Amino acid sequence: MKVLFDIGATQIRVAVSADNQIISNPIVFPTPQEFNQGITQIQQAALKLSQGQKIEAAAGGIPGPLNKQKNYVANFPNIADWNNKPLKQSLEQALGSSVFLENDASLVGLGEAVVGAGKNKKIVAYITVSTGVGGARIVQGKIDQKAGDFEIGHQIIVPNGSICGCQGLGHLEAYLSGSAIEKKYHQKPESIKDGAVWEEMAKFLAIGINNTIVYWSPEIIVLGGGVMKAISLDKVKLYLQEIFTIFPEIPPIELNTLGDTGGLYGALEYLKQNSR
Ligand SMILES: [Zn+2]
Repeated sequence: MKVLFDIGATQIRVAVSADNQIISNPIVFPTPQEFNQGITQIQQAALKLSQGQKIEAAAGGIPGPLNKQKNYVANFPNIADWNNKPLKQSLEQALGSSVFLENDASLVGLGEAVVGAGKNKKIVAYITVSTGVGGARIVQGKIDQKAGDFEIGHQIIVPNGSICGCQGLGHLEAYLSGSAIEKKYHQKPESIKDGAVWEEMAKFLAIGINNTIVYWSPEIIVLGGGVMKAISLDKVKLYLQEIFTIFPEIPPIELNTLGDTGGLYGALEYLKQNSR
């Protein structure tokens, strides 16, 4: 039995796969403020789902930058108690198996590239627009080699521009993200009905996609994340057409197809590639 998890800043999802293909319905619960409680709840969910069968390995995504050895989250968004805790080791003890941690956007991108919107494409650029902006480059069904993490939300799009959550200036995430919208308009993104705001978001996203295409040369761009629900894909393509000049054709731009389970499918694929 393989255990798959997705630790988010607000929710944790846990699922299992018995046959390396089909994923069980996930157990979903709010991310506890206390690290130890989080480990216990993941353990309980995994034991319930695996119904006494041996857990062979586990993998899952985490929402902040991993340290180099990939065993803990260096900067967990909004929940200080999870910072710098021995996440990998604690989960290995709790589950009695080896555990692999990976950046959550990389796992969602992997899932979308293997069984979702990017299926059968050799180079997939995944971009997620939610509380922050993240992404991943997937090459031939694998997360592309990386020395750090992919951090496309922190590309500079305006010199000396608005301050980003990372303290940098003019980053994409400071203009195009749930947190940027909340900061500027003092409302949750889901309650903003003003079309002009979403028009502006489409423009910023087009800039981010332009830069992603020229750096990553993808065959397809897959877009995901909660804030994408309010941004018009047609508008994004329109603005991109205005600014994108270097190639005669823009690669296809698609919405994700796996929804909330993208990270779990990515975790399963990651386990197939990395555990033995
Ligand atoms: Zn930044």
